[in-house]
Amino acid sequence: MTPVPRQLHDALPRFAARDRILVALDFDGTLSPFVDDPQAAAPLPGSVQALRELAAIPGVFIGYISGRPVADLSRRVQPPDGAMFVGSHGAEIDLGAGKTAWIALDDAEAAELADLRADLARELAEVPGIRLEDKPAGVVVHFRQAADAHGGLAVDAARRVHVRHPRAKMTDGHQVVEFALRHASKGDGIAVLRDHVRPDALLFVGDDTTDEDGFAVLGPDDVSVKVGGGESLAQFRVGTPQDVESLLSDLLTLRREVDRCSVTGR
Ligand SMILES: [Mg+2]
Repeated sequence: MTPVPRQLHDALPRFAARDRILVALDFDGTLSPFVDDPQAAAPLPGSVQALRELAAIPGVFIGYISGRPVADLSRRVQPPDGAMFVGSHGAEIDLGAGKTAWIALDDAEAAELADLRADLARELAEVPGIRLEDKPAGVVVHFRQAADAHGGLAVDAARRVHVRHPRAKMTDGHQVVEFALRHASKGDGIAVLRDHVRPDALLFVGDDTTDEDGFAVLGPDDVSVKVGGGESLAQFRVGTPQDVESLLSDLLTLRREVDRCSVTGR
């Protein structure tokens, strides 16, 4: 585990000291290290524990934001009670306590999605190691288990399909290509969480290109952290999910101190 970078180390105490804070995290590549089989992805135990303990402190709210469907995400992250979920890149939102914001497709969109899926299945039938995943508002082409050359073929095929289905938004992710008929983004999801929680400040940690939509909606009091390399709008950067584990553990220590002071100061 590498130490949390110096500048982020300075920003965390300010964040932890705000009355209401929202801690929002991506899952794959952020809480969970990448694995060949997406079905085997699991969060690092230190992050699970830190988020459980953070959630138990007054004024701390936890949100998970992922391209995965909410049903899969909520099962996988081992969330604390009261956690909120943004799934399918913002197309599905679960605010906890039975409050769900589903984005249902209209009939024309549903028909377009069915055509798009059939078209992808035809184009990709001959490419080994490809898996299609159905989402409530789209479909995802996974090629993490394909050889590099086959991954390239899959992207080419996806682009050809996109030309025939221009209403769908196509997004390149980490060894995935996603098509969505509803153009929600992680930024839209974060905006819904923010409206619901009304935090004084928000922390968002993510690793993928789709997380940039989340970084883009953060304000001057918020803290944005990119995991890994590549261009990013985020203010800060860490290297790996293990570093996220360190960051959450540091945040927990800081917030506990704030909580202890506010209790003894009463
Ligand atoms: Mg990710």
